[in-house]
Amino acid sequence: MIAIGVPAEDKDEPRIGLTPETVKKLVKAGAKIRIRSGAGLRSHFSDAAYQEAGAEIAKTDGDAVAGADIVLTVRRPSPEIVKSMKKGAALIGMLDPFSDAEGLDALAKTGVALFAMELMPRISRAQSMDVLSSQSNLAGYKAVVDAAAAFERALPMMMTAAGTVPAARIFVMGVGVAGLQAIATARRLGAIVTATDVRPAVKEQVASLGAKFIAVEDEEFKQAETSGGYAKDMSDGYKKKQAALVSEHVKNQDIVITTALIPGRPAPKLISKEMIESMRPGSIIVDLAVERGGNAELAKPGEIVAHKGVRIFGKLNLPGSVPVNASSLYARNLQAFVEPLIDKEKKTLAINFEDELVKGTLIARDGAIVNAMIAERLGGKPAKSGNASPAKAAANGSAEANARKNGPKRQTKRGKS
Ligand code: NAD
Repeated sequence: MIAIGVPAEDKDEPRIGLTPETVKKLVKAGAKIRIRSGAGLRSHFSDAAYQEAGAEIAKTDGDAVAGADIVLTVRRPSPEIVKSMKKGAALIGMLDPFSDAEGLDALAKTGVALFAMELMPRISRAQSMDVLSSQSNLAGYKAVVDAAAAFERALPMMMTAAGTVPAARIFVMGVGVAGLQAIATARRLGAIVTATDVRPAVKEQVASLGAKFIAVEDEEFKQAETSGGYAKDMSDGYKKKQAALVSEHVKNQDIVITTALIPGRPAPKLISKEMIESMRPGSIIVDLAVERGGNAELAKPGEIVAHKGVRIFGKLNLPGSVPVNASSLYARNLQAFVEPLIDKEKKTLAINFEDELVKGTLIARDGAIVNAMIAERLGGKPAKSGNASPAKAAANGSAEANARKNGPKRQTKRGKS
């Protein structure tokens, strides 16, 4: 029988990659599951709920992962945890593949097969495994809710006997998965919503959510989307025109949510200090791109910066602040990826290394890094071919490009098991 192990996450990470719901499904698929005691508590999944669904409870992380064929995590686990795994087993999680290449190499040398879920190709077959989408959607929602809670005025228009409360104005910059959910949430809360992006495809989506689209719609704008659906880095000329448009617009906004990212590049700077200073006191900016350098000039990772009456939120791990939903969706993403790795008859680990989704997400195998970009960062060539090369990734905008947009970011420090 195939064994799946789940250690506890780091103290900074409230999410977990297994829920009682996915335990049931994985047990049905032929797996035996062990989860570290208390690992789901911050997402409100008790040991009893896991046991009832069919999992065993392990006293330590070491017990949870020892002998497991597959280990499921949210973040990159500590070297101690990976060393407790058996050689040839698969570690599957958001391994933050393009930061700390040396740390990753050390994990690779244990002989464990490393799968980074951020690299999942964005093709229809893999939609149910798309962790970037499942988590970004919640981040977009939470950004608006956080801003609404901190905003010292109401969002919807209210007509009362004592007078009219005006609707707040919310501007969403970057309309990918997070931006679309931010628009939808802001609309539900009754705000007047405008949004911008450099990809023309977005215009219709913005309108369908009841928001107004604002952008510099020149010839460059018409070509700004890669074949993979991502944005290109725009020319200096375009950036100037965009800055002029944004500065005119931003000064009349109450809340700005920024989510703009470009694969493989630092986040584009869209809000300057001058623009911040043009906003009314009490206004709020939530910068979702802060982990990649930020879209707003004064944004700082993990901090709320107050500048001349405007607050700039740089909160990290927003999906982690809705851990119940974030864990549920993430655990389903993992379950959808894991089930095809199990031989249903023999109940053994049967990874098809030729499968596109396996190739896209596999970063290390048999003691060596097999991902071209990580190998390059380590100053060498990947141990095996077949993985998406940087050129290929740039061309199709998928797999590695998906994760490169996350760039160097999260801290992956883990406590000892
Ligand atoms: P993202 O996180 O890479 O970027 C967020 C948004 O910022 C994008 O819409 C981008 O165009 C925008 N942006 C970049 N530079 C900008 C600038 N200078 N000014 C304004 N906006 C700027 O995006 P994402 O959420 O990962 O989505 C990227 C694409 O992937 C979209 O086309 C989306 O529809 C597609 N997608 C496909 C699948 C799938 O097929 N499975 C799943 C999710 C998303």
